[in-house]
Amino acid sequence: MKTIGYATQSAGAPLAPFTFERRPLRPNDVAMEILYCGVCHSDLHTARNDWGWTLYPAVPGHEIVGRVTEVGSAVSRYKVGDAVAVGCLVDSCQECDHCHHGEEQFCSNGRTDTYNSPDRISGEITYGGYSKHLVVREEFVLRVPEGLDLAKTAPLLCAGITTYSPLRTWNVGPGSRVGVIGLGGLGHMAVKLAIGLGAEVTIMSRTKDKAADALALGADRLLVSTDEEAMTKAQSGFDLIIDTVPVKHDLNPYLPLLDVDGTLVLVGQVGPLAEPNTVPLILGRRRIAGSLIGGIRETQEMLDFCARKNILPECEMIRMDQINEAFERLEHADVRYRFVIDMASLDPAAGARA
Ligand SMILES: [Zn+2]
Ligand SMILES: [Zn+2]
Repeated sequence: MKTIGYATQSAGAPLAPFTFERRPLRPNDVAMEILYCGVCHSDLHTARNDWGWTLYPAVPGHEIVGRVTEVGSAVSRYKVGDAVAVGCLVDSCQECDHCHHGEEQFCSNGRTDTYNSPDRISGEITYGGYSKHLVVREEFVLRVPEGLDLAKTAPLLCAGITTYSPLRTWNVGPGSRVGVIGLGGLGHMAVKLAIGLGAEVTIMSRTKDKAADALALGADRLLVSTDEEAMTKAQSGFDLIIDTVPVKHDLNPYLPLLDVDGTLVLVGQVGPLAEPNTVPLILGRRRIAGSLIGGIRETQEMLDFCARKNILPECEMIRMDQINEAFERLEHADVRYRFVIDMASLDPAAGARA
């Protein structure tokens, strides 16, 4: 199937229209027309080869919402017209312990990412959601529950599950005391989801500037991390702190904020950290942990939870041809809080003109 998307051809090049083929349907494949795609920080890092493993041309996008247009002969769960979604994963071995436990993101034989990853059968590099059409095996297609706004659902597929998974892993519920560091695409979802689960939520920020935003999102308070008196007062007051800051920073000021057995979980790809001090870790049996998206089962659970609780991200809709400008703004954290591309704006004739 011929389709059109936006791709980068090298680390320094902007995204531009790109015509390519989606694979013919395998028996267990679902084909969809993409309606909306969220813009994640990983898209930007991949387009610019910040992590050093990008294969070009690269078509980013892993917060995908669309409608089924065709199904393979063995597909049983979906039919033409269904509202569906695809996140960061499109395949895994389905045989290892982690796959059996529904945690395909940790597949021992290597997960297949939605973009920039070799297909398990053909070896072709996957192309993501900045495109008109997508073909994905049935097991990695999610159902969008009735009632969820399709455009705003898109960011749930990465920003949503990345923050929902640690909340569930560390059993957040009514009465849990949760801190969130960083108020971007991930951070604002962490706040909404933690509130939805019944937690008491504090946003942690270097300045007071975000106080109004914090309250507007429903957080109980803003803790200014540069205010030493406030930080001392807040010691031992948290069960879980979700750190969404995507650049190198010092964790030491946050560790004493955790109660005994409390966990600070990193969800941003930071790389090397400033040296953490082991004293607060040992004295309070505190932990520093990491978390990576979530499995398919948990992602569906998150979508169903968001539909029940009417939890949706704050989005700014853009046209496909505004993506380079959106990347620039994303780099400067100039978005509240997630860009979503309206794929109806991707003109099928753009490829012919490019
Ligand atoms: Zn992402
Ligand atoms: Zn596996």
